[in-house]
Amino acid sequence: MSRPVPSLGNPKNTIEILNKYKFVFQKRYGQNFLIDEHVLGKIIRAAEITEEDFVVEIGPGIGTLTQYLAASAREVAAIEIDDALIPILEDTLSGYDNVTIIHEDVLKVDLARLAEEKNGGRPVKVVANLPYYITTPIIMGLFENHVPVDSITIMVQKEVADRMKTGPGSKDYGALSLAVQYYASPELVANVPPNCFMPRPRVGSAVIRLTKYQTPPVEAEDEKLMFQIIRASFNQRRKTLVNGLSNAPELRIPKERTEAVLEEMGLKPGVRGEALDLAQFAELSNRLKRLQNS
Ligand code: SAM
Repeated sequence: MSRPVPSLGNPKNTIEILNKYKFVFQKRYGQNFLIDEHVLGKIIRAAEITEEDFVVEIGPGIGTLTQYLAASAREVAAIEIDDALIPILEDTLSGYDNVTIIHEDVLKVDLARLAEEKNGGRPVKVVANLPYYITTPIIMGLFENHVPVDSITIMVQKEVADRMKTGPGSKDYGALSLAVQYYASPELVANVPPNCFMPRPRVGSAVIRLTKYQTPPVEAEDEKLMFQIIRASFNQRRKTLVNGLSNAPELRIPKERTEAVLEEMGLKPGVRGEALDLAQFAELSNRLKRLQNS
């Protein structure tokens, strides 16, 4: 199967398309289009796309990354919210017969169903230069809705990439770090400066690859409870864990109970949630669950 070589991906061609359609950038949609072929190549290599793959792209913009994906994958579904980009995508992707454009808000798309329909329920690869204003809900949605995913290779704000990789002791450590590390192994692919985008974002960016685990690295008997505990701990970062779990409306765990479990785990009663790693949160939730059941 021979497909056209990507034609977008440099400033000249991007400007040509934008002028042709008199496109106006929408700040509210986090529109920063990639104009660096080198970075595009890095994303494609990191995602390890093969001709077997069904790829979901979130926010194709004018179709720059989409062209690269379509040239390598079996099939691509690209989900774009902005009405003004749909005719542009129909133009820039007209040479590819393996791309479906879904004109929708990604947060409203049932991605598990899409994977079922288009890929027989087998794991898909997600690749995207994400709209930064909804990075966390997109990633959490992919994990929590149990979308069958093999890997997620995404451009995110540099600070968010740091948060995904870090552990206790860092100011960046939080609920997102723990969720990502429970479901996937994060790997930094590249740091990307603002001049690789049009318009330039005010922050640095990074490409990160999250390779989904077949089995999580720790055993949480009740995943939902563990994540409620994690969220309660970081919602009130300055509070002790004991107070955080007692104050959280969805938990209301009696202080003495949490104190007893912390003692069994060899932790101080005044410990803050931010001091615990993923294995300790799993153990804490397992022990609290057992006490609650007994
Ligand atoms: N992939 C293109 C590129 O790399 O040049 C564009 C990336 S740009 C950072 C983010 C894209 O996501 C924009 O095209 C924007 O319109 C789209 N977008 C923003 N919010 C969205 C949403 N809720 N659902 C789907 N697409 C969205």
